[in-house]
Parts: sequence; C-alpha cells; structure tokens
Amino acid sequence: MSDTAYLNGEFLPLEKAQVSVLDRGFIFGDGVYEVIPVYSRRPFRLPEHLRRLQRSLDAIRLANPMTDAEWARLVQEIVARHAGEDQSVYLQVTRGAAKRDHAFPKNVAPTVFMMSNPLVTPSREQVESGATAVTATDFRWLRCDVKVTSLLANCLLRQRAVDAGADEVVMFRDGYLTEGSSSNVFAVKNGTLLAPPKNHLVLPGITYDVVLELAAMKKVPTETREIAEDEVRGADELWLTSSSKEVLAITRLDGKPVGAGKPGALFRTLYQAFQEFKRTVMRQAA
Ligand code: PMP
Repeated sequence: MSDTAYLNGEFLPLEKAQVSVLDRGFIFGDGVYEVIPVYSRRPFRLPEHLRRLQRSLDAIRLANPMTDAEWARLVQEIVARHAGEDQSVYLQVTRGAAKRDHAFPKNVAPTVFMMSNPLVTPSREQVESGATAVTATDFRWLRCDVKVTSLLANCLLRQRAVDAGADEVVMFRDGYLTEGSSSNVFAVKNGTLLAPPKNHLVLPGITYDVVLELAAMKKVPTETREIAEDEVRGADELWLTSSSKEVLAITRLDGKPVGAGKPGALFRTLYQAFQEFKRTVMRQAA
C-alpha cells in the first residue's frame, strides 16, 4: 500500500502533499497538532485527543475546521488506507497561507494535514532495560499546555539528550520538574507515585491521565504536586509516558542509576496494568 496523506479535503500520496511556502505553519509555526495511537486498527482515546485538539485550537484562537464526527471519520479513513495493525496518526491544523504578517489574516482557510506512520512502542528489551535521560533547564515558553507545532525548543532539548547518548531530557523550571521533550515524567518515592500537576508548564498528556487512572484502580498512593529537583534526583523510580513510549522506566539520569538502576516494582505493576487496559479497551471496541 502506498503511503497516503490527507491534505485539505483530499487523500493523496504523501510525497505529492504540498503546502504553500506562505503557510503560517511554515513561516511562524502557527498551528496545532495531535498524535493518536492506533492499536489493532482502532484509535486509542480518540475523544480525549479530539478534546485536547479543541483546547489547543481555542488557545491559539483558530476555529475548528471540523466536527468531532468528521475528525473521527477522517482518522478511520487514514487508518483504513494503511496496512499496519498499530499506527500513529499525526494530524495538524495551521492558520493557512497568507501574506507574511504576524497579525492573524482574515478569511483564510486553515491547512488541515493528516498522515499515519507505524506505531513503534518500546521493545521488550527497552522495557526491561529502561530509558536513559539527561536533565536540562526548561527554557520553553509559558504555554507548554498547548500542543503547538512550534517545537524548536523541544527539538533543541531533545538533541541535547541525543548528543549525550541519552533517550530523553528531564526538564526543570525554577527548581521543579516539568516534563520531557516529548513525554510526561513521573517519580516514585517510598511507594508513592508523584505526578507534576497539569498546569501551563506541561502538556496534558493522554497517557499521563491513563497512568493516573490505572494507579487509582491499583490503589497506588498518588500525589499530584510540584516535585522539586532533588526529589527527582533522589527518586526510587522515574517513568516517562507518551502515546508512543506508553509507560517506560528511566533507569539512568545524568549517567547515574535511578534507584536500583533497573525498572522498579511500581513500574512493573503499572506497565502490566497499561498493557491489560489496552487489550480490554480494544476488545470492547471490536
Ligand atoms: N509532553 C510533551 C512535551 C509531548 O510532546 C508529549 C507527546 N505528545 C507528551 C508530554 C505526552 O503526551 P501523550 O501522552 O498525549 O502522548
């Protein structure tokens, strides 16, 4: 099957999908996006992703070009046009193409783009060994809760991790944990799961919510509060969560072992709960 994309009302081969160089997504990074994991050809938590998309559009003052039902149909259609059982659907809405001017253009159609890639979740070995991370100062803007396509700061921060031979960065702002370059971060201390609050400094992750729901189901004591840098450095366990990484232990931070240096007991509980939950949800949707 050829790789098909959706652009402004039509499906076409990805390499044929083109936008204007005046598109505000290209010129200003003036757009929002979502990444929706698809398991067994079924989108996972689609209503939640569409709700977050609406929130992002509201935050950048851009009208939603489609209803949720229309989005759901499009997502299903792009999934149907790809062979993989597990996919990662990327969708993006920008403020459209207009003469370059910072102020919003009037009467310009937004650009709507969608593609699907294979969903690559961590291998068994990665789950067993965990991920490595380095720390960095969070120098992003003050609306990290909005899923905007302007991701230069996130790219610079991730590259720092890559340059250090690590998988992700763990960021601090004013001495407190925020998140990773493309993931949320949790800490565990003395059997309690610590979660940074959902505020303007972190992206409200869909996986973050799933993990907190599963922790409640498993009766894991949880505290949602600001987590100081030394608590992170002294944590028994650190995890990262995202739609593609699911739940993954961080086993080395700045080259030092996290806790015992291997995925911890609480991680194993939540990882298993996540895999079971996925299977149950997918069976129910079938
Ligand atoms: N934080 C950031 C900065 C991200 O880019 C992502 C991935 N989109 C997340 C957190 C995790 O969000 P989700 O669980 O919805 O993938």
